[in-house]
Amino acid sequence: MFAQRVARLAPYVPGEQPGPRPGGRSYVKLNANENPYPPSPLAVQAVTRLLTDDPARLARYPDPDSAALRAAVAALLNTTGGVLTAPSAESGLHLTPDMIFLANGSDEALSFLFYAFFDSEGRHCIVQTAPTYSFYPVYAGFYGIPLCAVPLFSDFRLDTGALVKGANETDSSIILANPNAPTGMAINRALLRALPPDRVHVVDEAYADFAAESALPLLAEFPNLAIVRTFSKSMSFAGMRLGYVAANPPLIAALTTVKNSFNHFPLDVLTQTAGIAACGDVPWYAENVRRIVAQRESFGAVLRHSGWQVLPSQANFLFAQKPGTSGREIYERCKAAGILVRHFPTPPLDGFVRITIGTAEEMAALEECLAPGIPRPL
Ligand code: PMP
Repeated sequence: MFAQRVARLAPYVPGEQPGPRPGGRSYVKLNANENPYPPSPLAVQAVTRLLTDDPARLARYPDPDSAALRAAVAALLNTTGGVLTAPSAESGLHLTPDMIFLANGSDEALSFLFYAFFDSEGRHCIVQTAPTYSFYPVYAGFYGIPLCAVPLFSDFRLDTGALVKGANETDSSIILANPNAPTGMAINRALLRALPPDRVHVVDEAYADFAAESALPLLAEFPNLAIVRTFSKSMSFAGMRLGYVAANPPLIAALTTVKNSFNHFPLDVLTQTAGIAACGDVPWYAENVRRIVAQRESFGAVLRHSGWQVLPSQANFLFAQKPGTSGREIYERCKAAGILVRHFPTPPLDGFVRITIGTAEEMAALEECLAPGIPRPL
């Protein structure tokens, strides 16, 4: 009944999406690296206006090329430089709409990148770190692309030498999450200069808006770099599904060919409308990122004070362990208190939990559960 390839699939397992708790209350959800704040009011108003003033628009297909949204995303990046921790009009970026490819979430963008740039046969493979975002091996398996993994150091720092050596020795592409998942640790973009020049390399910047820098300035020098980004984290759009690739125009053209061979209209009218408005509200998003980063730093300090090991994060989450306690035990303790965090069953991650940074109230509730009575540093 089924095609044989279906039996070979090994799908990605996302963070738990729970129903209501016993008693009807909902969980505090700190397990999927979502943003605790709503999207910009400008985005909400734009969608409300469309639904009120022009509901018949929903009966028409959306713009297949999302031209206005691509222009808005390029302008957003030129304004922020690709980090919302320190948006600066002096970013020095000059991205144009033909350098932006939009997708139904960055997972879809990644899938198109794998299809467009990584071969299933021949001497090349894709080199990734281990651990990293666990969707990469899923796509490699889906398309039958050979994948090699370079282990991180035991303290989860990236072994940049080994990654570059691995890519150069096999003349291969790399895929790198920067900041990495699930650790939150980031590397300096200068590393990318040492990679083989004739292969496409992918940097997944899902969390870069919370970090110190982005690789976007390298696009001016590197025709073979593809930078994947998402509206799901810093822009509060996880429920809308909007991700993108920033790259030079020939790469964007190849991705567009793949998209149009798969789904001509991946972005619906509401997402395009909301996305355009959201791109115009940098102050809203910069303030949310500021609050999240402040919580990340002070909550991390509290955990460290009470004996936890907390990796230095540049993302909207912390990866932390309490020596002597398994990640699963912490997860269960939090769940009993109505808070969901993420744990990972296999070494070397099984001692850790990944904690998404929520609102001040949510983090206070988690603190009560994990580190009661520890004063917050000022
Ligand atoms: N890349 C990384 C590193 C992620 O952690 C995620 C979120 N699970 C994604 C990409 C995908 O995000 P989305 O599809 O919501 O844009």
